[in-house]
Amino acid sequence: MVSTVAKSKVNTDRNWHSFIDGKAEKGTTERQLFNPADGSPLCKVSEADSKMVEKAIKSARKAFDEGPWPKMTAYDRAKVLFAIADKIDEHSEELAELESLNQGKPLREAQYDISDAANCFRYYAGLITKPNGQHVPVPANSETTVVREPIGVCGQIVPWNFPLLMACWKFAPALGAGNTIVLKPSEYTPLSTIRLVELMYECGLPAGVLNIVLGDGKTAGAPLAESKLVDKVAFTGSVRTGKIIAQAALGNLKKVTLELGGKSPMIVFPDMDIDTAVDYALFAIYCNAGQVCSAGSRFVVHESIHDKFVAKMTERAKKIKVGPGNDPETEMGPLVSTQQLKTVTDYIEIAKKEGAKIAYGGNVLTGGKYGQGYYVEPTLFVDVKPDMRIVQEEVFGPVAVVQKFKTEEEALELANGTDFGLAGAVFTNDLALAHRVVKALRCGITWVNGYHFTYNEVPWGGYRQSGWGRELGTFGLDAYTEVKQINVNLDKGPIGWFEK
Ligand code: ADP
Repeated sequence: MVSTVAKSKVNTDRNWHSFIDGKAEKGTTERQLFNPADGSPLCKVSEADSKMVEKAIKSARKAFDEGPWPKMTAYDRAKVLFAIADKIDEHSEELAELESLNQGKPLREAQYDISDAANCFRYYAGLITKPNGQHVPVPANSETTVVREPIGVCGQIVPWNFPLLMACWKFAPALGAGNTIVLKPSEYTPLSTIRLVELMYECGLPAGVLNIVLGDGKTAGAPLAESKLVDKVAFTGSVRTGKIIAQAALGNLKKVTLELGGKSPMIVFPDMDIDTAVDYALFAIYCNAGQVCSAGSRFVVHESIHDKFVAKMTERAKKIKVGPGNDPETEMGPLVSTQQLKTVTDYIEIAKKEGAKIAYGGNVLTGGKYGQGYYVEPTLFVDVKPDMRIVQEEVFGPVAVVQKFKTEEEALELANGTDFGLAGAVFTNDLALAHRVVKALRCGITWVNGYHFTYNEVPWGGYRQSGWGRELGTFGLDAYTEVKQINVNLDKGPIGWFEK
């Protein structure tokens, strides 16, 4: 198939291999990747078999048990992390192009991700040199301190929606704390991570500290969750896979953190300026074509403004420029893969069968500039009921629903009415109401009169089935450490518990 989109400036005609013990290592099978913008072949990637994954784990084990990395001073590790941040910035154009090409997202979104990733390294480089222990008075003549130490070998498994950024959210705190890593990128979007790891090794990482294994979940991901040589597994992805990983981790009771899905509500009260609310609603669901764990996929709107809200959403959504990620005009790109296209279109059909009505969108876009790309129109459903699958399940695409409410209590009941608890937002000018509502939202990330603002400095993660633990902020560093108490007895002589 001939490509219908402008040629990218980055060269994909090169070897794309796993990276083990500081070196690229060719895999045993090949996977063809496709350009989501037009469905044309992009490049081939060589994938690891289970033996290679084992080798990567052993390399990380050796680098942790014998290597200098965990024993280096925090200042020396921070120097490497700062150098990585600068290196990412120096190569930001190349990395953003690669991300957009492989994942499909508009270039401007990819550029934002890359700069955020660099700053994530800067944040942890700074944090690890700050005091993080405790000196504790105890009821004895003891010098007692509490210190944090690295956990050991960390298996990290990331998805395809923010390939490079999700890897950096895991790399930066894990490395900063002194751990060693084997990371598996998504089989659909490994390119930016491969290039990033090459660049990271130019910044002074000792061999084996950071390994990446390419492949699908069963072959390359499952061993990271199962291996007894791995001390922690950190996963971002679907609830279904998160549960499999948690089960697999039980073998050696490794530490587990899970950042899973959401069905996040955005509540709009009638006192709010409706144009501002609509503007944020578009951003909440159509940014990255809705392939965001924290996407605002349910608009919980007061009945008095419901029709106006839907009319304004329709008017604005029709203007969203859908197209290839590397077209500077594009505001919303394609979905990542044919598989995701099928998932999203299946959900649209399910919603229709359940009786939900399409306010706009709902179609696949093909032909012309779309070629055989994986495009779905920005879509909005109205007339939904709380128990419909389109209201309860994560679509991971540009598809949202509008739910109507009368009272504050009803708004909260709807907002909290799923198994998830990742994010939620409230739009109102009433300060007391805003505070009451965010406090009552059962989720880990909230916004008042905003959406999607994400800061490296504050914890990211969810309540209920949206996951275990937190990434980012000081919590994100804690999640890569063990805690040790050190008690130094200042009394001389024997304890005398037993008679001589
Ligand atoms: P999706 O279904 O949207 O691709 P997943 O949660 O399945 O989302 O994928 C997220 C990441 O988890 C990917 O890197 C994928 O390869 C990996 N993965 C999938 N299945 C497993 C598994 N059984 N064990 C470990 N990793 C897996």
